Amino acid sequence: MRADPADYELAAPGTLEKVLALFADEPGSWLPIAGGTDVMVLYSAGKLPARKLVNIGDLRELRRIEVTFSEVRIGAGCTYSDLSQHSVIANEFPLLAQAAAWTGGIANQNRGTLGGNIANASPAGDSLPVLLVYDADLILVSLRGERRIPYRTFHTGYKKTLLAPDELIHSICISRNLKGYISYAEKVGARNAQAISKVFLAAMARVSNATIEDVRLAAGSVGPVPIRLTGTELALAGRAIDNSLLDTASKVMAQEIQPINDMRSTAGYRSAVLRNLLGEFLQGLPGARIAS
Ligand SMILES: Cc1cc2nc3c(=O)[nH]c(=O)nc-3n(C[C@H](O)[C@H](O)[C@H](O)COP(=O)(O)OP(=O)(O)OC[C@H]3O[C@@H](n4cnc5c(N)ncnc54)[C@H](O)[C@@H]3O)c2cc1C
Repeated sequence: MRADPADYELAAPGTLEKVLALFADEPGSWLPIAGGTDVMVLYSAGKLPARKLVNIGDLRELRRIEVTFSEVRIGAGCTYSDLSQHSVIANEFPLLAQAAAWTGGIANQNRGTLGGNIANASPAGDSLPVLLVYDADLILVSLRGERRIPYRTFHTGYKKTLLAPDELIHSICISRNLKGYISYAEKVGARNAQAISKVFLAAMARVSNATIEDVRLAAGSVGPVPIRLTGTELALAGRAIDNSLLDTASKVMAQEIQPINDMRSTAGYRSAVLRNLLGEFLQGLPGARIAS
């Protein structure tokens, strides 16, 4: 059924403190809208359960990218275009810049925000596997104060998160200690632009003497939440990069994922493609002896 605008209340208090005060008065009643690219899809389909909407897209407090000696702190209200255009993100966090460039078309990148992608909690969110391999932290804020949590703990189940009813995601923090890592990301969708991913792999490794010293892997669209593939990482660490390693790691990876059949793809296709992406990543590492 089409949504009737008269059924909705829209507030735009204009400052973070005033938005948090609304949340504190009626926790869980107000739905924040940042870029609106997910919320408006629900609204147009008549599937938006919330009736009280509060604009956070104009909060300057959430639109900053702060770079310190040790980390970059990205305001949750930064758009994908903000991320792509930032020199530190482009140079030091290429996977994030890449995910931003893959997220919908230009119009979507100009409005959609990193915080919205995280809070929307889709298993197919493109930035989410990237934040997992970067070991990002989230700063959540309410009138009660701030708390900093590892992003990897945030999604607790399909569309479930640790966000309390009076909280907003304030910022995303990524450590700048990634020198020496080779990074890789691939999104497989129905077409190059404007496609929700069927499979996403983000990966990083440090290699010495053709042996994997450290590796981080995360996948999207192969389970109810984007996941860090910690078992597969263990299987790869300290090993020479050859076909037998790919076979062993692929078997472990198959146990870690829970792909489903849905309108976009089949579980079998998703598993096979993820294995191919792992192979492609390993093949690109220095000293790899993996036959195609
Ligand atoms: C045409 C189109 C193409 C798209 N393509 C892709 C794609 O390729 N890859 C992809 O990953 N996504 C894609 N999306 C989905 C969407 O653009 C992203 O998820 C985007 O990051 C959402 O951000 P937003 O600011 O628009 O969120 P909104 O729609 O404003 O909000 C989304 C949800 O997050 C909550 N929220 C927003 N900000 C915060 C905050 N700071 N704290 C707490 N909660 C918050 C809102 O209450 C809402 O529940 C696409 C959407 C469209 C319409």
